[in-house]
Amino acid sequence: MKTQDYIKMLTEFEPAAIRFLPNIVWASADGYYVTDTDGKKRVDFCSGAMIANSGHNNKAIINAIKKQLDTGVYTTYLFPNIPRCELLSLFSTLIPPNYLTALFNTGAEAVESAVKIARVYAYKVLKNKGTVISFNNSYHGRLIGSTAISGTESIKYWIPMPVQEALSIQVPFPSCPYESKPHNFNDFLNSIHEKNIDVKDIAAVIIEPYQGSSCAFLPRDFSEELRQWCDRHKILIISDEVQSGMGRTGKLWGYEHLGITPDLIVAGKGLSACLPISAVSARKDLFDLCEPGNFNSTHSGNPICSSAAIANIHYMLDHKLVENAEKMGILLNESLMKIKNKYPWFIGHVLGKGLAYAILIDINYKHLLKALLDRCIKNGVLLIGGGFAGTTIKIVPPLIIDATGIKKGCEIIEKSVQEIIEENNLGDKSHVSEKNL
Ligand code: PMP
Repeated sequence: MKTQDYIKMLTEFEPAAIRFLPNIVWASADGYYVTDTDGKKRVDFCSGAMIANSGHNNKAIINAIKKQLDTGVYTTYLFPNIPRCELLSLFSTLIPPNYLTALFNTGAEAVESAVKIARVYAYKVLKNKGTVISFNNSYHGRLIGSTAISGTESIKYWIPMPVQEALSIQVPFPSCPYESKPHNFNDFLNSIHEKNIDVKDIAAVIIEPYQGSSCAFLPRDFSEELRQWCDRHKILIISDEVQSGMGRTGKLWGYEHLGITPDLIVAGKGLSACLPISAVSARKDLFDLCEPGNFNSTHSGNPICSSAAIANIHYMLDHKLVENAEKMGILLNESLMKIKNKYPWFIGHVLGKGLAYAILIDINYKHLLKALLDRCIKNGVLLIGGGFAGTTIKIVPPLIIDATGIKKGCEIIEKSVQEIIEENNLGDKSHVSEKNL
């Protein structure tokens, strides 16, 4: 069967609501390449969806899964299994001392579990309403709770306002690329005040070290002030590292760029680099507030997923993938800046660190985002597009990528930008003054 046949099946049996990118049906993938059902091979600049940090079809991970399969297929969250024990022991070396970890399946499930811990803490220790503060344009998942605490307005319309407000309020993100000036910490405090939230009713602030929709990082000075303020008021910081964790930003955890240690860390996506598994790590005293059985989830600690995560962590450490992400990130930044400098009126921003980058096309050309994304994909590089303003093209390759892969993918992006500019007669706007750009 060819791609069109599969697409026909999809459109017949699957709601379009679960797809948002051009329909490329994957047949196989290896390293940082993906081959579709028509045999076309493309550079993968999206790592699946920030998942395949150790590369697709990673032999070490596959062997670990096979070895686990050889013991038979069984799963139970009611009783522990060997890989679950071993993964928790290994994972403890990646997180602050005296933090415990609970395993889950998806990012949204782990985010909601972290929020639940914060609310148990609010109920039992702070004895307050347990409000969670998050940032405008943040993304924490698609379930009711995780959508309610996400700051992306367009995904929240289906949840009644009282449900959202009972859980969480949003404040401006300090360094939004589309706002004329950054927000400082006083603006943060004022926004909370304007929303009639008493500091005494807050349980936690949930952060993403960088916002997935633009790759804009939370500024370090803001984060440090936030940490001090939270400490003063006994408010928790949850770092949602579902996307920024496991080496993506050139550090193991995104919060390392911010100069703070969060009280809770949420991991997912790149944890096993292939199979569904997520985790919440939190200070032991916080987990100790929760009763046995509080976090049951049928497939959590699944032995096959846990084996994959163990092999992935060893692979990442043995092959220094975090360091590679930092090194390749410098090259990626240079290549993307070259494209921006060539077409400064078309590309408004290049943001990111490590292998988490985004180009934001100028808001005036937002209507061309889809055409550009389609063209990049047609020309041979897989990318994620969209973002809260509909202007983002995200570049998040597997952390095993080398200079050849970065060069190849970026050349395709450059060629695609050039084609779209020419076809739409955008011409050379270098005469447009900086002020008007
Ligand atoms: N948090 C962040 C920061 C994410 O990027 C995502 C997924 N894109 C999630 C949570 C939700 O993860 P999942 O899709 O596995 O539920």
